Amino acid sequence: MKLYLVPTPIGNLEDITLRALRILKEADIILAEDTRTSSKLLRHYDIDKKVLAHHQFNEHKTAENLVRQIAQGTTMALISDAGTPGISDPGFLLTRACIQAGIPVECLPGPTAFVPALVNSGLPCDRFLFEGFLPHKKGRQTRLKELATQPYTFILYESPFRLVKSLVQLAEYLGGARQACVSRELTKIYEENRRGTLTELAQWYTAHPPKGEIVLIVAGSSGNNTGLADYPENDEIDEE
Ligand code: SAM
Repeated sequence: MKLYLVPTPIGNLEDITLRALRILKEADIILAEDTRTSSKLLRHYDIDKKVLAHHQFNEHKTAENLVRQIAQGTTMALISDAGTPGISDPGFLLTRACIQAGIPVECLPGPTAFVPALVNSGLPCDRFLFEGFLPHKKGRQTRLKELATQPYTFILYESPFRLVKSLVQLAEYLGGARQACVSRELTKIYEENRRGTLTELAQWYTAHPPKGEIVLIVAGSSGNNTGLADYPENDEIDEE
């Protein structure tokens, strides 16, 4: 009776621990965000197990039933499409439900996109703020305002289609001179870590539209934030 949260590679299939492979082999059931995506990994490592779908669209409904099964003695291993479950991925609800039911939970250490991005950035990583995805519409402007003044390096997950828009807005709210780093396609063949100011990065990616998966690392405020006086007066960002 146990729930394991098992991190899986964010690109390079070699990035999985020996213990993660053993736990996946020993579990009674693997819960996967997308069973087709995970089947590639499981086939690669010769893991032939019962796999059930557990994703953001069913996790509210299935958690109770899964908790009951685990409480009856089943060992389950939760994986997401990539990286660590619960980090901008399903995992939190089931973890909380298991803890509330007195079921042991164990998250294995392993891949997650934000750690290599943070360390690669060369920005201070003794204290940092994980923001995940910025809200697309409602609440975006409020979040940008909050981020403008907080002093820690912060981490954003970003889509290639929204990167330039986010860099431009961040430059507007934080000041274009703020240092940042775009980590793209980490652990994959075309991995890129591009460092510069928000303005420089916005210009570069406007001229070179990015592809693939992206983590954006931004320096914290040093206190003399040149962008603060330039907030847009209206709610244009929230209204889009
Ligand atoms: N659970 C994952 C983790 O532990 O990092 C994150 C899942 S979240 C749905 C997916 C986002 O993570 C992507 O949009 C991107 O921002 C980031 N990401 C995942 N893999 C990446 C990679 N290889 N390179 C850069 N960013 C990546």
